[in-house]
Amino acid sequence: MTDLTASADPALALLGAESLCGLPLSTATRTLNSWLEVDLDALRANVHALRAAVGPGVELIAVVKANAYGAGVEGVVPALEAAGVERFAVVLVAEALALREIGVRRPILVLGHAHPGEASRAVVHNITLTLDSLELARALSAAATVRLAAARVHVHVDSGLHRDGVTLNEAVSIAEAARQLPGLVVEGLSTHMANADEADDSYSDEQHALFAEAARRLPWVVYRHAANSASALRRPELRYAGVRVGLALHGVVPNNAPDPGVRPVLSLRARLARVSDVPTGEGVSYGLTWRAARPSRVGLVPVGYADGWRRSLGNCGEVLVGGRRCPIVGRVCMDQFVCDVTDVPGAAVGDEVVLLGGQGSEQITADEVARSAGTIPWDVLASLQGRLPRLFVRGGVVEQVSGRT
Ligand SMILES: *Cc1c(COP(=O)(O)O)cnc(C)c1O
Repeated sequence: MTDLTASADPALALLGAESLCGLPLSTATRTLNSWLEVDLDALRANVHALRAAVGPGVELIAVVKANAYGAGVEGVVPALEAAGVERFAVVLVAEALALREIGVRRPILVLGHAHPGEASRAVVHNITLTLDSLELARALSAAATVRLAAARVHVHVDSGLHRDGVTLNEAVSIAEAARQLPGLVVEGLSTHMANADEADDSYSDEQHALFAEAARRLPWVVYRHAANSASALRRPELRYAGVRVGLALHGVVPNNAPDPGVRPVLSLRARLARVSDVPTGEGVSYGLTWRAARPSRVGLVPVGYADGWRRSLGNCGEVLVGGRRCPIVGRVCMDQFVCDVTDVPGAAVGDEVVLLGGQGSEQITADEVARSAGTIPWDVLASLQGRLPRLFVRGGVVEQVSGRT
């Protein structure tokens, strides 16, 4: 696998990204302020665990929208492809084109709305669009005919989420009309559940009945898909031809679903940039919202809300230093926050801080961060920003680096 980012930008070599490749993780991260670790061994194992869970004859459609849930498509997608996922799904045409640029050969489905003006780019790069209008169907047909190519589309039925897609009747009429257009192949029929990850997901039964009706009326559209991670793990009847799995690939299992034996892929780490004393009664960070109740030592963590580390974690989240849980004290700032290391003997500048992931026997999960921040794990991962360098690790060795180090 090549290090795309480093080789594409010679300036990065000067900044050290390229030189980290091939090094053991502990050596590579010595001089970094903050970084994301992507465990490619865990990713591969998760693909195998999910495949075992959904059984034979069901494709894995890896949902890699939003930069593969913050993990970095440049490292995650080639690893998924090598692990054998059959297809990829993203939301934007631009995201699909970025996957082709890094060399993805498998089918790529765009789940979101595409403008008819994007039709020719989709055809040129063999990208499957979700068809939501006849106007788009005609634009795709025209683009495909000019190039003597085929434009593949899926029709997405709004079975009760009342968000995207088309109604049952519209789906039937759009699919039948598109079928008549030259160069257009109506390959897939899809839907999406509203309550897939709720404790009570019984509404999926109603949505499934409507989707099954669409399938009955469009028997010739054979590639059907309806499940995200939660439905894929919990509802065999929704697995159909393929399951659209995002979160579970990253080793995070929706709370209502059985764990197929996946493990976390992402960890977010930093190094203490300063350790200082705060006398009893003094405050910390903007607004001085936390005050030391005892003579305290605090550590500066160089990660902030501009990196995707939620401001709402101020005074409520925890991080790991020296294998111990340390409370985040005071407000999270744009680029940094402070944690209380009073109970970590010998805490010093350069010590590793774990924001997400394991250290010693302790573990901070995306679920825990989400609960502390008042959000969901999807949001915690997808918020992680490009300013954090990404280290893709296999067998304890850095295989690929992206971003500036
Ligand atoms: C994001 C998304 C998924 C993946 O959901 P997970 O819960 O992360 O597995 C599946 N289908 C659609 C339509 C999506 O937008």
